[in-house]
Amino acid sequence: MVTLMRLEEVIPEVWVAHSRRYGTTSTVILDGHGGALVIDPAWDADELAAIPADLAALGVRCVAGLSTHMHYDHVLWHPDLGDVPRWSTPGTVQETINNREEVLRPLVGDIPADLIEIAAHLTPIKGERLDWSGPTAIIHVHDAHAPHHLALELPDLGLLVSGDMFSDIEIPMPAESDTDLLTYRAGLLSLEEVTGRSRLLIPGHGEVSHSPIQRYRDDLRYLDDLAERGDSADERIRLDGMAELHASNQRRANGGGPR
Ligand SMILES: [Zn+2]
Repeated sequence: MVTLMRLEEVIPEVWVAHSRRYGTTSTVILDGHGGALVIDPAWDADELAAIPADLAALGVRCVAGLSTHMHYDHVLWHPDLGDVPRWSTPGTVQETINNREEVLRPLVGDIPADLIEIAAHLTPIKGERLDWSGPTAIIHVHDAHAPHHLALELPDLGLLVSGDMFSDIEIPMPAESDTDLLTYRAGLLSLEEVTGRSRLLIPGHGEVSHSPIQRYRDDLRYLDDLAERGDSADERIRLDGMAELHASNQRRANGGGPR
């Protein structure tokens, strides 16, 4: 049996690693021909290095990367993953070019400079499907957690890789520009069908779920709670770092903006 440092198989051909930071997930999908798609590799230098090492132990190599959205913890990379296309939505690619410094600023002094240097060099996805050798992979673009955010659906696997949506350890976290949660709601609602037909969900932070639609309903319930009565009994609010975000969401719901 192969011993891996980080990756755990969640269904055949699909592997997930959880970072020591915020339960951040890295997802690997094998193409069945010796290649691997690496989604949102994260986070610390040793954790990033372990991913290509694990791929080598599995006898596969990275053929492409994918960033679900423009946030610094989702645009990381490691030299050993190779110089392959790292896809994202055209809007995300543009943001990381126009505002590169701002996007990467939280990483400065936090991870080695050479890893910051190779972060966020992304290639725009053309159309709605990834042009790769693995199972059909369809992107669903929305603006809920961040503008130009994508969820990746692999219909043949019943899999949805959702980025920073549908987490069991984070309540809905809207973009800074979303002052009333309506953009978040619109983005969430746009994912109802795909969460309904998927059987496995891999969120950007937290545990995978075998009931994607339940995660969708949990997040919609939270938004409904805030819209209807300005508060929520969502248990995630009690988790690390969530009280402040919840207070900010309450202000947004009351028309007071994020702060
Ligand atoms: Zn994010």
